[in-house]
Amino acid sequence: MTSVLELGYLGIEASDLPAWEHFAVEILGLQRAEGSHAGQLGLRIDDRAQRILITQGSADDMCYVGYDCGDDAGLEAIVERLRGAGNVVDACDAQTAASRGVRRLFATTDPRGSRIELYVDLARAATPFHSDLVSSGFFTANGGLGHTFFPAAHATMRPFYELLGFRLSDYIQQEIAPGMLMDAAFMHCNGRHHTVAFAAFPYPKKLHHLMLEVNNRIDVGLAYDRVLAARLPLESTMGMHPNDLMFSFYVKTPSGFAIEFGAEGRLIEDDASWEVQTYDRLSIWGHKPPAEVVAGLS
Ligand code: FE
Repeated sequence: MTSVLELGYLGIEASDLPAWEHFAVEILGLQRAEGSHAGQLGLRIDDRAQRILITQGSADDMCYVGYDCGDDAGLEAIVERLRGAGNVVDACDAQTAASRGVRRLFATTDPRGSRIELYVDLARAATPFHSDLVSSGFFTANGGLGHTFFPAAHATMRPFYELLGFRLSDYIQQEIAPGMLMDAAFMHCNGRHHTVAFAAFPYPKKLHHLMLEVNNRIDVGLAYDRVLAARLPLESTMGMHPNDLMFSFYVKTPSGFAIEFGAEGRLIEDDASWEVQTYDRLSIWGHKPPAEVVAGLS
């Protein structure tokens, strides 16, 4: 079945662009995109011209997410499949496509009301990616920008994402408080263990976190030190999930949702032999609320 190939880009509406630029460039080690201008900040993590597009606004949330459909035939097949299942899918005008840096663009809405964009040909930058802070570089080859975690029931979301070609990776079900089950599902569209994940929990934004992956753990540790030195709001300490084995921490962005910053996540090499499992905890170790960990240490 034709599938989207990767999470290509993410759009964010943010009230404080200078804070975002400092956070993304000086703390996390992303690169400011050439086309950035007043009211809009583009960010690079690889050879693409932009992967994160931040526009000035009051939402402080994700406003769209773009998936690569590979070529025109793939794009048309996925659009047709979505329409066949009753989804409204609109062709976007040339100006909107140009603002994303893509040649052709369609847009629809997922069951939680998030704008989902489908494209072909995300522009490459004229210059190589460069970061003074992340020397190993970001991992995007055949894996795209990273993964997103949406606070929504997976039973509601999965059928839509299956239409995009996503396959189930696994589940995590953990009782996080008496009588409160965190029931998460993880889905992939390429070798990255998951590109999208869902769990229903009360959260005021469409996006709980975006995961960015660097190529080694040293760069995760160095970013962790920069976050701590800048006294930025850490959402959880360093830790590791049982399913993707990502070595990561979570920091709150200037918009309130989080970035998971990690390395060395597990890959799904072969779909045919992959077995879906259910894990009973969110993390093997770590990923604790920082106040719980550091209170009384010094
Ligand atoms: Fe994650």
